[in-house]
Amino acid sequence: MLEASRRWRGDGRRIGLVPTMGALHAGHLSLVAEARRENEIVIASIFVNPIQFGAGEDFNRYPRDLDSDADMLRRAGIDGIYRPSVEAMYPPGSSTRVHVSGVADPLEGTARPGHFEGVATVVTKLFGAVEPDRAYFGQKDAQQVAVVKRMTRDLDLGVEICVCSTVREPDGLALSSRNAYLSPPERKAAVCLSSALRLATEAYSRGERGPEQLRQVLRARLDAEPLAKVDYAEIVDPETFRSPGTLAVLAVRVGGTRLIDNHELTRPFPG
Ligand code: AMP
Repeated sequence: MLEASRRWRGDGRRIGLVPTMGALHAGHLSLVAEARRENEIVIASIFVNPIQFGAGEDFNRYPRDLDSDADMLRRAGIDGIYRPSVEAMYPPGSSTRVHVSGVADPLEGTARPGHFEGVATVVTKLFGAVEPDRAYFGQKDAQQVAVVKRMTRDLDLGVEICVCSTVREPDGLALSSRNAYLSPPERKAAVCLSSALRLATEAYSRGERGPEQLRQVLRARLDAEPLAKVDYAEIVDPETFRSPGTLAVLAVRVGGTRLIDNHELTRPFPG
């Protein structure tokens, strides 16, 4: 794949990269479709990146289904799949990490120490390997988007970062590979995230601007769900991830599964 992308380089055809950890769903495929519209060559990477998982997180049990992933990508019209092994990505002796400060520090950065360093390092390496013109990320992981944009600017990586809307289930739950961990009662309870975001968006559109009041709208809905335990529910600036701002961001544990979601309150909630 690496060789292929180098072979394509220089002939004027633009390369779009969709980085994923596999266990693909319609959210990932929406990124592929957008990349397909905007580039002559589309490459997806599948790599469950060990260094972005903390001790005690789900690296070992993260869902992996390569056959189904390859099949979905083929049908979506992908040109190539970059699927390095852990040993190829981090060979013995490799010791470089990309550390983004500021935007990577609060919220997910605090809840998951080292997570964004792992993300920034692997994305830098994927950019180096595939040399894309554009890379596609989901708004679902809003802080990841902000970290990747910051890093790409700061390191002059020369890749255009394209952000795609969150794809949701009919009841509002954002698609995520981790939804597979939810038991049926947990799956029902998990709707509290999108439901809280919808209520906060409605409050905002009625004129509510107080950050504390908007936070209370989020908290009230989440706290009403017995199976949910709030990690954070904040209203932040989408670039700095500090208050004040208009991006509502949530991390909630439903049973044993940690789910995240977000919505820009100035926009209507979909559905
Ligand atoms: P992951 O495989 O979870 O690392 O996700 C790979 C990419 O897909 C990331 O840029 C995610 O933000 C994006 N993504 C994940 N879930 C969704 C979704 N429901 N809608 C749109 N993009 C998503």
